[in-house]
Amino acid sequence: MSFIELKHLNKFYPISGAKDFQALKDINLSLDKGELVSIIGESGSGKSTLMNLLGGLDSQFSGEITVDGKKMSTFKDQDFVNYHKEKIGFVFQSFNLVSHLSVLDNVTLAMTLSNVDKKTRNERAKEVLKQLGLEEQYHKKPSQLSGGQKQRVAIARALVNDPDIIIADEPTGALDSQTTDQVLDIIQEIAKTGKLVIMVTHSEKVAARSTRVVTIDDGKIIGDVRQGELQTHENTFGLEKKAKSKNLSFFAAIRLALLNMKEKLGRNILIALGGSIGIMSVIVMLSLGAGVNDYLTKTMNANVNPLVSEVKMPIARGSNASSSVAADSSVMATTPAGTRPSGPPAGVTQSDPFAEENLQELRNIPHVAELNLAYTSFTIGSDNVIYEGSKYAFMTFGTTSGMTDSNILYGTFPAEGEILVTEGIANQMGATAEEAIGKEVTLSVTIDGEKLEKNYVISGIYTAGQSIGAFESVYISSESFDLLTAENNLEVKPNVVYLVSDDPKNTQAIKDEVATLGYRGSSADMLASTFTKMLDIFTYILSGVAGISLFVSAIMILTVLYISVVERTQEIGVIKAIGGRKKDIRRIFVSESFLIGLFSGLLGVGIAYLITVVGNIIVQNLFDTAILNMTPAFAIFGIVTSIIISMLSGLLPAQKAASLDPVEALRHD
Ligand code: ADP
Ligand code: MG
Repeated sequence: MSFIELKHLNKFYPISGAKDFQALKDINLSLDKGELVSIIGESGSGKSTLMNLLGGLDSQFSGEITVDGKKMSTFKDQDFVNYHKEKIGFVFQSFNLVSHLSVLDNVTLAMTLSNVDKKTRNERAKEVLKQLGLEEQYHKKPSQLSGGQKQRVAIARALVNDPDIIIADEPTGALDSQTTDQVLDIIQEIAKTGKLVIMVTHSEKVAARSTRVVTIDDGKIIGDVRQGELQTHENTFGLEKKAKSKNLSFFAAIRLALLNMKEKLGRNILIALGGSIGIMSVIVMLSLGAGVNDYLTKTMNANVNPLVSEVKMPIARGSNASSSVAADSSVMATTPAGTRPSGPPAGVTQSDPFAEENLQELRNIPHVAELNLAYTSFTIGSDNVIYEGSKYAFMTFGTTSGMTDSNILYGTFPAEGEILVTEGIANQMGATAEEAIGKEVTLSVTIDGEKLEKNYVISGIYTAGQSIGAFESVYISSESFDLLTAENNLEVKPNVVYLVSDDPKNTQAIKDEVATLGYRGSSADMLASTFTKMLDIFTYILSGVAGISLFVSAIMILTVLYISVVERTQEIGVIKAIGGRKKDIRRIFVSESFLIGLFSGLLGVGIAYLITVVGNIIVQNLFDTAILNMTPAFAIFGIVTSIIISMLSGLLPAQKAASLDPVEALRHD
């Protein structure tokens, strides 16, 4: 039995809308090692079709091809891969060298796909290249070689895995007559080492140097002439049999991807830049959110006595007024109908007063060292400060219990007959904060439904801090308040309690216990949590917008990789012809998208870092605080996101590359 046997081989090409086209008609042929077979025939006679079938690039045929006793009709994908790796070497008319790989890398590619170690790989490739007279050319790119040199590199690539069969489709078609002779010498030499060389040619001269000439016409063999034997001798291309082949390693795939990306450096920098914008915006948004949050927390804490917890009665159920000021219902309290004589009908809300048992409960909370009673009210439109005949409305009225020095912007705490107002009220009165101090005003407040009026002197300017407490407010001391109510025969129970803790460390525990018991904490605390929630939502929305730019980058990467697949069609064909699996090709492309993602991510993080640094310098100058807080977690998140997005975008193009038909991919006309 011959090494290769073709029995009743037929090949039909499906033609859409027409009958299948029969390119090979009942071919019967036996070929043996040591033969140098020329296949000649006119263009379109079916020579390439036959070569593609012999080489296992095309597996659709009827009849049988038997190689070394194995029937090709029974081959699975992996059998074809092994066949390409171990049995077959291809030489093409148009060389099909991979342009971004060096001569050495082109020749070692097949071994790289088999995960042969670098040393063995390079030794073997250099050995073959040297025998083909290319020892000076290892590190050149194919574009730097002459046609004859390119074809010799291609032959070296075909030989390096020591195959049994060399298939050469018009190997001298693109060469001048002198280099044709050189290449034919080499091909003849290869056949002499006992390999089966099958060569398609147009040239009588080329055919004359072979041991056998098979003529094809219109898909049929019309001539088969033997013309002498070659003096076969031992393998001059003395390559030891290779070890059992493994598969393309992850690092080799990354290296191949890097080499390709280096070739198109400018384009890849642009892609990375485009991809980085989305990542950069997401990181900046997250940093902004975190920064503002930190800032708010800091500002709040700066204006809060670390020992004191403010407590109010829970909002009575069934209330209907609590949402009348939408943004912050928690500041307001309501009066359940019937518990108290009805107050002014509109706009007035009160916190419920504490009963003795409530105060007892609060006093019993662990770590409460002291309990200060206070009063506060929140009204809309009914409370005023009257100065020189004009009314200036304010919303919050209360006692100064629980305040710290940080609440006094100017002046002093109010003594008997004195009052604190906000800077806004002072300004409305036509005075600066400092000028307002010492002015005499009439306070007009509604307490328990009674309208009370009394003259006071402004002792200081109250501030609730920078971020909250925009409401205009007026405060008097507890003593002044008791006096004011007593003068009007009112008995007002405290509706705010300040719990002083024995240690700042215990304050939070007290606050937690207050919440557990069902009381309300400080309105500032509640405002803060409302604010934080709003800020979170805001951050999510902005991040969502940034996410859209991520989506755009993903589409961009997808497009670019598709283009890359088209550009690299020939390379993909070569990889398949030398035994690359679908998986290997997918891996090369996925590696490339991994690298794009990595670089985009790194670039995005870098730019985001610059923006936060510069942004903070600017904000620092304007507002005396940093507002962008980029954490390492954000940077890692950005890079990982970038890689994931890029790899996901790379999946489709990689799949497309992997499923390319090698015959299509290697067609060169
Ligand atoms: P050669 O290499 O001898 O010039 P080919 O083997 O390339 O010829 O082609 C043989 C015949 O098969 C031609 O008529 C060609 O048009 C046809 N053919 C080749 N490839 C295809 C294909 N993919 N689909 C349809 N017809 C094809
Ligand atoms: Mg052809």
